[in-house]
Amino acid sequence: MKFYKDHYDVIVIGGALAGLSSALMLAEKGKDVLVLERHNLPGGIATSFVRGGIEIEAALHEMMSIGPEGNRLKVGKFLEDMGVQIDWLKVPEAYHASLPGLEVTLHPGLETFAKEVDAEVPGTYEKVLKLLNLCHTVFDSVNELSIHPMSKVQMLLKHEAFVKTAGYSTQEVIDTFDLPQKAQDLLAPYWIYVGTGFRTLPFTIFAVLMADYIGYGSYIPHKFSHEMSLKMAERAEAMGVQIEYRQHVDKILVKDGKVYGVRTARGDEIHADYVISAAYPNKVYTSMIEPLSEVPKKAIKMVNGRRLSLTAFSVIMILDKSAEELGIHDYSVFRGDTMDTEALYQDLAGLGPYRYLTCICHNYANPDATPEGTCSFSITTLPRVDGWKTVSADDYDRVKHEVAKQMIDDMSKYYGVNLLDHVLEIVIETPMTVAHYTGMWNGCIYGYAHTMEDHIVARLQTAEEEKFIEGLEFAGAHQISGDGMGPAVTNGRKAAKNVLDDMKKKEAAK
Ligand SMILES: Cc1cc2nc3c(=O)[nH]c(=O)nc-3n(C[C@H](O)[C@H](O)[C@H](O)COP(=O)(O)OP(=O)(O)OC[C@H]3O[C@@H](n4cnc5c(N)ncnc54)[C@H](O)[C@@H]3O)c2cc1C
Repeated sequence: MKFYKDHYDVIVIGGALAGLSSALMLAEKGKDVLVLERHNLPGGIATSFVRGGIEIEAALHEMMSIGPEGNRLKVGKFLEDMGVQIDWLKVPEAYHASLPGLEVTLHPGLETFAKEVDAEVPGTYEKVLKLLNLCHTVFDSVNELSIHPMSKVQMLLKHEAFVKTAGYSTQEVIDTFDLPQKAQDLLAPYWIYVGTGFRTLPFTIFAVLMADYIGYGSYIPHKFSHEMSLKMAERAEAMGVQIEYRQHVDKILVKDGKVYGVRTARGDEIHADYVISAAYPNKVYTSMIEPLSEVPKKAIKMVNGRRLSLTAFSVIMILDKSAEELGIHDYSVFRGDTMDTEALYQDLAGLGPYRYLTCICHNYANPDATPEGTCSFSITTLPRVDGWKTVSADDYDRVKHEVAKQMIDDMSKYYGVNLLDHVLEIVIETPMTVAHYTGMWNGCIYGYAHTMEDHIVARLQTAEEEKFIEGLEFAGAHQISGDGMGPAVTNGRKAAKNVLDDMKKKEAAK
């Protein structure tokens, strides 16, 4: 029997969250789909590994866009609609902010959050709530407009707050609320999840981030992020998708400006009408298209014009005592020596010492995360790709251990306990680990940076012009919705929708 069929409707390169979301949606519409994944298991960054008999989350701190049972947000709803049943656990707090002069734990719920900020910075309740409500209004508009595009006039009539704030940076909008610096600092910790300083970050992005995480809270799967990818892959196969592991796609085959298939590293040439790529456009347009002469100059110009967002450096530990015994009291701690996001963004260009850390103790959302009497604790920073590109192979081990030591020392000082004395297992993930494991361009986990010139609103307007090769779509953190696991799912759906729309158009033209 032949390994591959003669022809597929769609080939998806990469069996992680984005690619699997595309596959699920296409299979639901009866399309013949092949997923090629270079690893021996699905998930990409949404994975876990085992050390000393303990399963350890590789990446996920918290998922956005899940929402509570009975009122699921778009990612939670999509997974349910596709028949992917995830055992979601609610994260108990928004975050603990450990900033100069501030040690505050804040909880989700717009009013709760505003009250807690007010308790720390009296007299700010009304203003903070008004700002959060504005975020929520913009969030609702973005969700509606991403499904129902409308004319500018209609948009102005129906989505006034969205239109009025769309051209402004986060800092410009926050400034209009005249909030004391301390209150502004308490609103800022999540900035690292979108990775741009507030003077350059479009307010729309901040609004979506805050309304989603603060308005509805965040979630994690009971069996780690790999629960999502494994169940998505299982469901996709049950719906007829062919998934082949250990199949690295080397080339995307193009003729006369149109995709006709792929070639794997093993030499198989497989044919399809459409290809959806998880590999970054940078990689695709510079080395995967065959022949390279099919790549229009505009495509190269586009990838060169975009700024890569952040990568990750994470120290993940299993500790030999419970969190309470070690004095770790929160699920999530954001700790910095300033909350000046521009200064922190500059700091992320280097190789440390890093001034802004985000720590997670999974046991507070998931008591089963580790065996009784132990806990998991990770310390993460999200550097820019620039600095890490300068590390030579000879220096790599030294730099990696120095950075990890700095982060562990910082948090040991904070908790007043030497975390290194309690390590049962420790794993250090660097930008190189991410690049090596997923193939992501420069190890970038968040795609392209959101800036005032290039963000979701602008990208929606230029999306059509950026289709340089017929039948080629992209699905990954590098697409319109941007960073993170939730947006990766949304991006995967969008790629599938583009394919389905094009199929319909061609069918109608016959
Ligand atoms: C330490 C860390 C913490 C994070 N925390 C969070 C968090 O708390 N919340 C959140 O939302 N996000 C978080 N993220 C970011 C998030 O993990 C990513 O944005 C998201 O998982 C990207 O998903 P993806 O589907 O785009 O791609 P990836 O997960 O990068 O997967 C790409 C897939 O494509 C495959 N592939 C690539 N090229 C080829 C090829 N040529 N042939 C075959 N297969 C190929 C890869 O093997 C991989 O499986 C974190 C990331 C890290 C590293």
